[in-house]
Amino acid sequence: MPEIKLKIKVLGDSVLRKKAKLVGRITDEHRRVLSQMAKAMYDHSGIGLAAPQVGQSLQLIVVDIGEGLYKLVNPKIVKSRGCQSISEGCLSVPGVCVKVKRAKQVWVQAQDENSRFLEIAAKDLFACVLQHEIDHLKGKLIVDYASFLDKLRIKRKLALLRDKTKAAKLL
Ligand code: ZN
Repeated sequence: MPEIKLKIKVLGDSVLRKKAKLVGRITDEHRRVLSQMAKAMYDHSGIGLAAPQVGQSLQLIVVDIGEGLYKLVNPKIVKSRGCQSISEGCLSVPGVCVKVKRAKQVWVQAQDENSRFLEIAAKDLFACVLQHEIDHLKGKLIVDYASFLDKLRIKRKLALLRDKTKAAKLL
């Protein structure tokens, strides 16, 4: 199979704002996308990636915070507890950090790439990344959490990213 390097979609690309489709029957094609997503995540030194970030509007995410790779299909938060606030970055909003308030613990139900159902209990950074990636599946980005002051701070940077995405589309 030829090696395809997946480009990460950047703010301004409409696919990032779409609600991702639920996956019905998990096929080889989904497994291939998940593998490519994992590769793209590692290539960019990320700790999580959602399918819309590689232009696929599907409910697929990959996460690896250094404790092993999770490839999840149709992930859903079924319970959450507590609160934490971490300064987050996103491969789709390069160069921007936003402090995001999230649950400290989450329980996520999903399927693995072999259609097995699983429930993951996650806390701290792992819980944060899962919530971040599941947000992507709803079309939500870290910039949506920016406080008024954060918005002023990152406004120019976001305008530049959007212009760059628009310009790339015209090429
Ligand atoms: Zn992200």
